[in-house]
Amino acid sequence: MRTILLCALLALPAQEKGLEIHWIDVEGGAATLVVTPEGESLLMDCGWPGKRDAERIKKALDSTGLKRIDHYLTSHWHTDHWGGVAELAALVPIGRFYDHGFPGPEAKDVDPKLKEAYLKASGGKSIVLKPGDTVPLKGATVKILSAHGIVAGEEAGAAQTRKCAANPEHPAKPEDTSDNARSLGFLLTYGAFRFLDMGDLTWNVEHKLVCPANLVGTADVYQSTHHGLNQSNHPALLRAVSPTVAVMNCGAKKPGKAWSYATIRGTPGLKDIFQIHRNVEHGADQNAPAELVANDDEACKGEGVRLVAAPGGKSYTVEVPSKGTKRTYASK
Ligand SMILES: [Zn+2]
Repeated sequence: MRTILLCALLALPAQEKGLEIHWIDVEGGAATLVVTPEGESLLMDCGWPGKRDAERIKKALDSTGLKRIDHYLTSHWHTDHWGGVAELAALVPIGRFYDHGFPGPEAKDVDPKLKEAYLKASGGKSIVLKPGDTVPLKGATVKILSAHGIVAGEEAGAAQTRKCAANPEHPAKPEDTSDNARSLGFLLTYGAFRFLDMGDLTWNVEHKLVCPANLVGTADVYQSTHHGLNQSNHPALLRAVSPTVAVMNCGAKKPGKAWSYATIRGTPGLKDIFQIHRNVEHGADQNAPAELVANDDEACKGEGVRLVAAPGGKSYTVEVPSKGTKRTYASK
C-alpha cells in the first residue's frame, strides 16, 4: 500500500504545486509573502527601513525560485510596514503597488521621507484599493475587506463605529485616528483554503466587519492582527472567522505586555498558534509551545514560518523550519 501511494505521489505532474505563504521575521514589523502554483507572488508589507528586512524578504522569495514580486501591498503607512520599500525595490523587481490611499495633511503618522521613497519606487502609479476590490493574483482570489477605515457597503468617510445590539461585552473603543484603522485587510482564497491578513486594523473597524453581518465568512488561517496587540483582535471578529490556526507576526518585545495571546488562544475551534518570536515579556503560559515559535531570543537569526497549502487547498501544512516542526490541518 505504501509503495503504491509513493508511486502515485511521484507520478504527480510538476505543475501540481501548492500555494505557499511565508511569514518573514522583520522583528515586530510585517512582511507576508504569498506564492501561487502559477508562479505569481504577492507581498503584503515590507518591514522596517534598512537592508536587513529587504534582504530577508529576498531570501524568502529566492527559496521559492521566483525573481520578482508581482503585487506589493502596503497595508498602511506605518514604518514597520513600508519602511523598507526603497531597499526592497533596489533588490527585487516589483510589478504593481497597491495601497489604501494617502490620508490628508492632518495625519501626523505618515513619514514624509518614506512617502517620497514609496512614490519613487512605484513611479507614483500605485493602485488605490477599496473594500470589495480584488487583486489580480494568478492562482488565488484576494478580496479586499477593509481599506481607509471603511468596509464593504460603506461610503468613504463613514463613521468608525456602528450601533450593534449584541455587543455588550466588547464595547467600542475611542475613535482610532491613526493609520492603523485605515489598514487594508484581505481574504485570500485558494480552493478550499482561506487566509485572513488585516494588517494593523484596530478594534472598531474590525467590529464593523462582523456587525451587524459577518462580511468575512470563516478562515482557516488568521494572521494575528497588529502583531497580536490587544487594540486589535476583536473577540467578536475572532469568533465569527473561527480560524483553525493563528500566526502571530510579533517581535521579542512587541507587543510586549499588550499581548492578546489569551484572547486568540480562547477562540473556539482554534488548534494552534504559531509565533515568529517568543514574547520575552511573558512566561510559557502566554506563549505558544516552543516547537511552534520560530525565534526564542531577542538576538535571533531571523527565522520565519512557512505554510504550504496542498493543490486544491483541501489541506495545509504549517512549518517552523528552525525547529523542524510540520503540522498538517484539513481546510474547513
Ligand atoms: Zn505594525
